[in-house]
Amino acid sequence: MDRNQQLFERARQRIPGGVNSPVRAFRAVGGTPRFVARAEGAWFWDANGQRYIDYIGSWGPMILGHGHPAVLEAVQQAARDGFSFGAPTEREVQLAEAIVALVPSMEMVRLVSSGTEAAMSAIRLARGATGRAKIIKFEGCYHGHADALLVKAGSGLATFGHPTSAGVPPEVAQHTLVLEYNNLEQLEEAFALHGPQLACLMIEPIAGNMNFVRASVPFMQRCRELCSRHGALLVFDEVMTGLRVGLGSAQGLYARAIPGFRPDLTVMGKVIGGGMPLAAFGGPRAVMEQLAPLGPVYQAGTLSGNPVATACGLATLQEISQPGFFEALSARTRSLVDGLAAAARAEGVAFSADCEGGMFGFFLLPQLPQNYGAVMKTDGTRFNRLFHGLLERGVYIAPALYEAGFVSSAHSEDDIALTVAAAREVFRTLA
Ligand code: PLP
Repeated sequence: MDRNQQLFERARQRIPGGVNSPVRAFRAVGGTPRFVARAEGAWFWDANGQRYIDYIGSWGPMILGHGHPAVLEAVQQAARDGFSFGAPTEREVQLAEAIVALVPSMEMVRLVSSGTEAAMSAIRLARGATGRAKIIKFEGCYHGHADALLVKAGSGLATFGHPTSAGVPPEVAQHTLVLEYNNLEQLEEAFALHGPQLACLMIEPIAGNMNFVRASVPFMQRCRELCSRHGALLVFDEVMTGLRVGLGSAQGLYARAIPGFRPDLTVMGKVIGGGMPLAAFGGPRAVMEQLAPLGPVYQAGTLSGNPVATACGLATLQEISQPGFFEALSARTRSLVDGLAAAARAEGVAFSADCEGGMFGFFLLPQLPQNYGAVMKTDGTRFNRLFHGLLERGVYIAPALYEAGFVSSAHSEDDIALTVAAAREVFRTLA
């Protein structure tokens, strides 16, 4: 038994499924999860000492790769200054200012410790600010594991959803309307039926939890118009896309296509913490001042705005704000995606792919899917063969076909070339 297997056996004795977050368990693809011993730049080494090129990067946060010297230095200094105080610190103010400077729709922000907390709090704020209960979400979008958001589509158009987890009372799901992503007809119908009761519409603008699917510009424009017309808040969940697809985040991309576009509330996580537990939600002052201690919407956290996490986030934001950072990152990601597409074409494998900034997705499908149902038409067995073929060759992609991938500024052209060569070998076995 190798060391990963030994650790997995031990883990399963004391941690349910051997992991602290389900996707890490390799349940969809089978096999033994790799236990990470250490990481540097674009690579990590597992418990057997095997090296992998890392395209997960902690599911998004590690935009600079692992162990960036400036980030390490900032974290070490912050740790020396003290881990946590339960009292405000200057770094929290600096991080809030830095986020607001990059994402102008967020006039004020509140820092929390996870994307789940941020999304859950944004929903409570939207409900508190509007005095309404109902929310819209989209099938295939993930907003963390708060009860109201663990809901799948109901049976008919514009009907309320069902819990996707045991332990979520149906009454909680009753307020959540689940629609198909990019489906204008369902969107219109939902607002026609429920507009005056809707507190908010929450959306991943580029959905990274059904691999990589963009909301079309007309669809997003209509989301904006309908929310404004009916007094519901448009909430962008940019936990994954925030400061990952570009410095202006996904909302910056839509603002280029739709003049004056901005969401009402934004949820951020991952990159803003640079790999530490940190997330945020924010929006206009008038809405954000509904939060305690100023307003009636309660929200709090023992470790919120943690000094070491804020130092890590600040150092990360400083690096990604350097001129040319996103141009270089986008070019690297593009070269990966183009290389994979060319390799698949050469081996006669149906393939489609998309990317933005340092985020990408690819499908063993001839065309890019537009919604969750289309993503799930992927042949899971073939995806699993691709996953394991790459893993054996030292390339670590997400162990599930409905997850996006991430390139960091530490990935070199050599890493990309190695990846493409490995993929071509595996494609040959799939053709
Ligand atoms: N929202 C989106 C879009 C996410 O991708 C995730 C996590 O992957 C979350 C929210 C939840 O964030 P966390 O895992 O930090 O609770």
